[in-house]
Amino acid sequence: MFKKEKGLLAIFYTVIILLALGGTAQGGQYYINELLEANPPPQVLKEGPIVRVKQPSMEKYMPGEEQIEPGYELEYELEQEPEPQPPPAKPLGKVALTFDDGPDARYTARILDILQAEGVTATFFVVGEYVERYPETLKRIFNDGHLIANHSRTHADLALFDNEDIIAAELEPTSRAVERLTGFYPLIMRPPYGSLRQDSVRFLRENGWQIVRWSLDTFDWDSMRNSPEQILSRIQTQHHNGAIILMHCNGPATTRVLPDLIRILRDLDYEFVAVTGL
Ligand SMILES: [Zn+2]
Repeated sequence: MFKKEKGLLAIFYTVIILLALGGTAQGGQYYINELLEANPPPQVLKEGPIVRVKQPSMEKYMPGEEQIEPGYELEYELEQEPEPQPPPAKPLGKVALTFDDGPDARYTARILDILQAEGVTATFFVVGEYVERYPETLKRIFNDGHLIANHSRTHADLALFDNEDIIAAELEPTSRAVERLTGFYPLIMRPPYGSLRQDSVRFLRENGWQIVRWSLDTFDWDSMRNSPEQILSRIQTQHHNGAIILMHCNGPATTRVLPDLIRILRDLDYEFVAVTGL
């Protein structure tokens, strides 16, 4: 009798336990689904570090606990370091060094020496009066393979001129002087001081002239702010693909800084071209 009662009790408790476990398992599953809907796992990122989502452990979602944490644990796995690649075969960008106001008796030749030593091509915006005064230097600019462009005959403020006079008095005499010495008639011009009325811009374009200003002023012309450090700092902070860099032929600041300026741009993988090569 005692044994029988014990046996019945054992069966009774077993049934109770099985029912309880079944209910718990079902309830737990339901609860987890609810939680997953409310807190969907984070998306795996397509870029950047790979995020692996650790599935929440069952224990954390068993019902009956007062505080239930979301339970997602993120593991960050940094992307593999890329294999070192050889430097690009083609430079990343192009820049044009431009030198205004030459030729002169002293600094233009020094600039040409530096460009020759560095194997750099540049553009010279020349002044007609100086072309006639320093023809040998003008010829060397041409023979060294640089582009010659027009910077007026007298370095006048062309905003004060009638359109016809800009060409007749300032541009044509300069380009003719260049042509006499080199056989090449420049049709690219840069107005002195960058000064040109809008109607003159249209007029010159209609007459076949290409107007080139600049995008990076080194201020080599300004004795108040043309130390090598200041000029090189401008190059380092303002360099960009397609930059037209303004410099001048007639002062010591330019020749002092030019080798370092070229080195900085070359280290940045820029190719040096004439303004027509941009
Ligand atoms: Zn000038």
